[in-house]
Amino acid sequence: LALCEAREAPPAHPIPRVTQSQFNWQLFWHFLRPYLLLLGAAIVLALGAALVNVQIPLTLGQLVEVVAKYTRDHVGSFVSESWNLSTHLLILYGVQGLLTFGYLVLLSHIGERMAVDMRRALFSSLLRQDIAFFDAKRTGQLVSRLTTDVQEFKSSFKLVVSQGLRSCTQIAGCLVSLSMLSPRLTLLLMIVTPTLMGIGTLMGSSLRKLSRLCQEQVARATGVADEALGNVRTVRAFAMEQREEEHYGAELERCRTKAEELGRGIALFQGLSNIAFNCMVLGTLLVGGSLVAGQQLTGGDLMSFLVASQTVQRSMANLSVLFGQVVRGLSAGARVFEYMALSPCIPLSGGHSIPKEQLQGCVTFQDVSFSYPCRPGFQVLKDFTLTLPPGKIVALVGQSGGGKTTVASLLERFYDPTAGMVTLDGHDLRTLDPSWLRGQVIGFISQEPVLFGTTIRENIRFGKLEASDEEVYAAAREANAHKFICSFPDGYDTIVGERGTTLSGGQKQRLAIARALIKQPTVLILDEATSALDAESERVVQEALDRASAGRTVLIIAHRLSTVRAAHHIVVMANGQVCEAGTHEELLRKGGLYAELIRRQALDTPLLSAPL
Ligand code: ADP
Ligand code: MG
Repeated sequence: LALCEAREAPPAHPIPRVTQSQFNWQLFWHFLRPYLLLLGAAIVLALGAALVNVQIPLTLGQLVEVVAKYTRDHVGSFVSESWNLSTHLLILYGVQGLLTFGYLVLLSHIGERMAVDMRRALFSSLLRQDIAFFDAKRTGQLVSRLTTDVQEFKSSFKLVVSQGLRSCTQIAGCLVSLSMLSPRLTLLLMIVTPTLMGIGTLMGSSLRKLSRLCQEQVARATGVADEALGNVRTVRAFAMEQREEEHYGAELERCRTKAEELGRGIALFQGLSNIAFNCMVLGTLLVGGSLVAGQQLTGGDLMSFLVASQTVQRSMANLSVLFGQVVRGLSAGARVFEYMALSPCIPLSGGHSIPKEQLQGCVTFQDVSFSYPCRPGFQVLKDFTLTLPPGKIVALVGQSGGGKTTVASLLERFYDPTAGMVTLDGHDLRTLDPSWLRGQVIGFISQEPVLFGTTIRENIRFGKLEASDEEVYAAAREANAHKFICSFPDGYDTIVGERGTTLSGGQKQRLAIARALIKQPTVLILDEATSALDAESERVVQEALDRASAGRTVLIIAHRLSTVRAAHHIVVMANGQVCEAGTHEELLRKGGLYAELIRRQALDTPLLSAPL
């Protein structure tokens, strides 16, 4: 709600703004907090492993000294003298391995759990967004935030803690031991390295931008594929496979160009850094060699120095790769957190409800004006006024695109009116609990019912989760669905395909009716419920609807006028306003828009309208 009030100027419904979002550290902290203890343990283990890594070059250097001594003098037993050092080294290797195992296990534990928490939170926050939010978004992009982006963020997080921490510690530790070995050489290293790092950071920032563009493009391509696969029947029906292929191909091609550009950037970066680091080794050898020649350094020390500076070099290379990963992780994280922080204008619940025995089901639209948030300049309803008396059937007719479905959406409170108000029993809908309104008061049956890919029983129970099997059967009987369900071998346990593709239109519609009736709604909205059906299915469905309408406040939205004759009151709308109202006979006699619609339809479908 705060979001709604934050902007003064109309439109009253701002589309949730999608700015290039910043990484939300506060939310990140929220997800990290439960695992701080484990993270602390992981950090300690990783630090331990890094410190052991610092020890190893020093001990190796000592061993080299022993070897060097024996190549010079050939006295005493090499085995006994090197024994201590070797066991020391072996122990160091063992400890290092154990610590690495430990912190990696801990990190994967933390990472996976955080990923689950984040996916849960994001999913629940997405489900809570306004319908207007979904008008403006592609589901493919939303889904990829749940999958790819969380994945990316998780792996970056793990890498940063393991590699990042380890590399930094190793660099610091090795620098200390380096400076103890040879301050002069270390000084040289300290001058060259930051210079190289500076250049690296500059290159990194342009790579970061590229990486973000790349990810956005991938999401776009996913969206195309998602839409085509999700609506495969339409694609097939229009023989649009090739066009979709081309469309997806073009998006992929754009992905490839961007990704290759990024790849070239990263390759250049790594190539250059390899050259730089190799030159550093050569430089160290030359300068260090001259120190050894001048008796200022022992051969073993130089060996230690080389191994330690190699460790520094490897760590820095790791850091530079890690930098890219951090950048990708941060932008993925920003996308994951973006919608979590977004609060919808219409909450899912909250507000008061009317006790069942007092509920009458009188609905009014008072001077309602409305434009869709994603199309603010276009007024769909203008001063629309309508009353649905309790227990009566009102039919709303008018041309396609005239705003009939919009009226139903406002009643479901998918949107709030721009001006005016919708009331139930005299209460402004905005003061009523939306979950109560949608879950218990209003039954909505649309032209294209959407079923879920589960059993028929579960689909009907979607209307009332706590319904008993008896209630499910009763609702199915009321909806004329019991007979056809029982004719299936699996009966109520038949799985309807994804989106109910394994059922006919009339069967799907009857399941949708059962699903709406099981909650015993006071107000029933039928939005062109039979207009997608053939004549025979229409008859069966209409019969169920007639039975369901008895004793309820019903809004029938109809395109086909044969369905509205049963209505007590017929309202004709045009240009977002009510232009005629009355009974069928009154309106025919009046000879206005309704009579015109009837006449035109009689021409189109003489069989159906013949009784009129
Ligand atoms: P009807 O049900 O009478 O055919 P609708 O209420 O579906 O008409 O649509 C009324 C107008 O609102 C149409 O011009 C349509 O383009 C527009 N419209 C419908 N739904 C949306 C939406 N989600 N976002 C933006 N405009 C919409
Ligand atoms: Mg419609």
